[in-house]
Amino acid sequence: MSDAIWVPQLANRTAVLATMHGKEQVIAPLLAELGISVLLPSDLNIEFNTDQFGTFSREIKRAGNQQEAARMKAARAMQLTGLMAIASEGAFGPHPALPYLPCDRELVLLLDPENQLEIWGEALSTKTNFSQAEVRSQSEAEQFAQKIGFPQHGLILRAENQLIKGIVTAAELASAVEHHLVSSGSVMLETDMRAQYNPQRMQVIQQATQNLVQKICQTCPNCGWPGFDILERQPGLPCAWCHQPTELTLANIYACQHCGHRQAKAAEASHADPVHCAFCNP
Ligand SMILES: [Zn+2]
Ligand SMILES: [Zn+2]
Repeated sequence: MSDAIWVPQLANRTAVLATMHGKEQVIAPLLAELGISVLLPSDLNIEFNTDQFGTFSREIKRAGNQQEAARMKAARAMQLTGLMAIASEGAFGPHPALPYLPCDRELVLLLDPENQLEIWGEALSTKTNFSQAEVRSQSEAEQFAQKIGFPQHGLILRAENQLIKGIVTAAELASAVEHHLVSSGSVMLETDMRAQYNPQRMQVIQQATQNLVQKICQTCPNCGWPGFDILERQPGLPCAWCHQPTELTLANIYACQHCGHRQAKAAEASHADPVHCAFCNP
């Protein structure tokens, strides 16, 4: 399992998880390893609609970028409950290094008002079925459904003025497709990316939470507080051929949110591939 340790600032405390999409099933057990118990807003009889911060199906535009949206959700949950808060936010798009591959980037944030900590976990995965297709027949609909791992993974049907979310049975899919084919000749199907409808995404949220646990356990060498993490990257890794500095990371600067202690750690690589060099490979 993980190398989770109980850090005294966070152990034996309760956090509220700003979700309504079942993420507690992967997040709560991992935080329990740190001695943090997780409650949902509903456990506290608080109504908390995370959709107000944006939906994947785009009826509601996301509030700010991915990081800002996570921070807003956590801050709101914290404000409503007075507890430390956890929020997660996903984004789907081309992989940053391999643009032809779709990828899922998940962030999980812990905000602790008592200790003024903001700690981030992150996971990037190309294991995602995120996709959409325009279909013109039942058999095309079935083909797409099969490709994305339906019915374990849910579907959304998008037609003129209508959005049907959370389709998880063959009968539901067939009747919705039938209905809209008759009226418009084609329908858009897409993967429902809400966590409880997408086991692949749930796994990436779990990985991001593991990363959060690891970040919490990185304690400051000076004061011992959790969340000793990279604050900035220093470019300048020398080119393997000409030894001129490149844009690649030479060192990572770690910083403590509590005492301000900083430490530079050299990057794993000692030289950059000349492909990144402005002189050797213009
Ligand atoms: Zn410190
Ligand atoms: Zn070079």
